[in-house]
Amino acid sequence: MPQIRKILIANRGEIALRIMRTAREMGIATVAVFSEADRTSPHVRYADEAVCIGAAPSSESYLNIDKILKVCEDLGVDAIHPGYGFLSENAGFAKRVKEVGLIFIGPSPESIEVMGSKLAAKQAASKYNIPMVPGTPDAIDDRDEAKRIASSIGYPILIKASAGGGGKGMRVVESEAEFDEQMDRAVSEAQAAFGDGSVFIEKYITSPKHIEIQVLGDHYGNIIHLFERECSIQRRHQKVVEEAPSISITPEIREEMGHCAVNVARSCNYYGAGTVEFIMDENRNFYFLEMNTRLQVEHPVTEMITGVDLVKEMIRIAEGQPLVIAQEDLQIRGHAIEIRVYAEDATNHFLPDIGTLHTYVKPDGNGVRVDDGFEQGMEIPIYYDPMIAKLITYGENRETAIRKMVRAIDEYQISGLQTTLPFCRFVMQHDAFVNGSFDTNFVGRYFSPDVLSTKTDDEVAGLAALISALLSDASPESKPVQNEEVNTSTSKWKARRFATH
Ligand code: ADP
Ligand code: ADP
Ligand code: MG
Repeated sequence: MPQIRKILIANRGEIALRIMRTAREMGIATVAVFSEADRTSPHVRYADEAVCIGAAPSSESYLNIDKILKVCEDLGVDAIHPGYGFLSENAGFAKRVKEVGLIFIGPSPESIEVMGSKLAAKQAASKYNIPMVPGTPDAIDDRDEAKRIASSIGYPILIKASAGGGGKGMRVVESEAEFDEQMDRAVSEAQAAFGDGSVFIEKYITSPKHIEIQVLGDHYGNIIHLFERECSIQRRHQKVVEEAPSISITPEIREEMGHCAVNVARSCNYYGAGTVEFIMDENRNFYFLEMNTRLQVEHPVTEMITGVDLVKEMIRIAEGQPLVIAQEDLQIRGHAIEIRVYAEDATNHFLPDIGTLHTYVKPDGNGVRVDDGFEQGMEIPIYYDPMIAKLITYGENRETAIRKMVRAIDEYQISGLQTTLPFCRFVMQHDAFVNGSFDTNFVGRYFSPDVLSTKTDDEVAGLAALISALLSDASPESKPVQNEEVNTSTSKWKARRFATH
């Protein structure tokens, strides 16, 4: 059995660091690759060795397969971990890695290929009678036929890119009158983003929850699941808040969904870590959406409730070791929530708000985990995904995890750009989130920019202190000691303004 001694991480930011930390714990040396935009990144300093592989655009660096393989050869690397995004779901890359005699820490190129196409994935999964959203089984090549199918399914429908990912290439069609226009848009979006314009139709589930199952498989056909994550708080069909376990399912549904997920993984002879995504309607019917053949952004919530280090398991599996965890060994302990801290302005349609982290002080304390890839003074590059950090809290139950999250968000101090922190604080305190009645329409239904401009009690108190400070400054009789007190509360008020606005 090959023993991995040196890993190259073909990624950047928080996920590169997260993988290196586990590698270090396992006594494995680490190699970072980086673009010119990431020269000063923590992931570069953390690694035992680091090599610049090109200019800032990812096509010249993080996606440059030849350069990455050359670094492996030069530095005597045994294995590559691709993280998420970039080359992680590129079957051609996984194949090349294998061909040059390196270990790819992930599934086989064949599994990636099948699951990389949502249509091929459904076809593979259909061997196991997995529930599917009603829709077209193949890519659409005849529009009239597609329209007939759409009206038999019933509007609204969703046009989806088969090669899609990251919420791109998806269009809701409310009625037949919009069909052609939305179809044209979906095809051109898919072509531009994935180089593949194949699209298909699914019934649009109007009030759905996104629930996914983490799986792990080894090279000997053993596949287990590590329960669910609920990721229904989304914008642009992309997740912002995730948690485990889900408040919306019963132990029976958990078992059924887990069983389906293991079968989906089996349908493509899966090994490594993967995620099977489902969508669930109001009547708790669930349907298979897709499988992501990689480590997922939100994997930490699963780690918190199961105590399993998913990256460690990925590395062990890649070495050819059999799974040592059996399904019966796994138990859910407590509750974990993750929020994604993006450099985005929630009050401006969640558009990226790129800039410099003038202040960057992260939260800490019992039950708080921060996976991040930036430091104070650094700029968020425009070239990549604008995620700054993931903030994860863990408590013995959901209420505690929520309370810890609000406390941690209030401790987080970021200035210089807008982030999703105020939005996430709003989510944590919203009745629909607290009572579990939320679905993927949360943002559209409950959020508008003005909900963030209401001041918290603390801010109102701060504002009162500020006004009294201004008034007492103007007063010739004011005593120095009073001024000092007032100044302290003024500066706290300022810090809070930076932290949450
Ligand atoms: P997750 O379920 O892991 O949260 P996301 O959809 O948020 O998955 O994607 C994770 C990362 O990978 C993001 O940076 C996203 O932009 C990127 N990504 C996902 N799928 C694709 C794809 N097909 N092409 C390009 N980038 C992708
Ligand atoms: P991606 O590859 O972009 O992640 P998914 O198929 O996983 O694509 O869908 C992303 C999100 O889009 C889901 O989490 C869900 O919010 C929404 N979505 C996908 N399919 C449907 C559907 N049939 N009905 C309603 N919403 C859907
Ligand atoms: Mg998805």
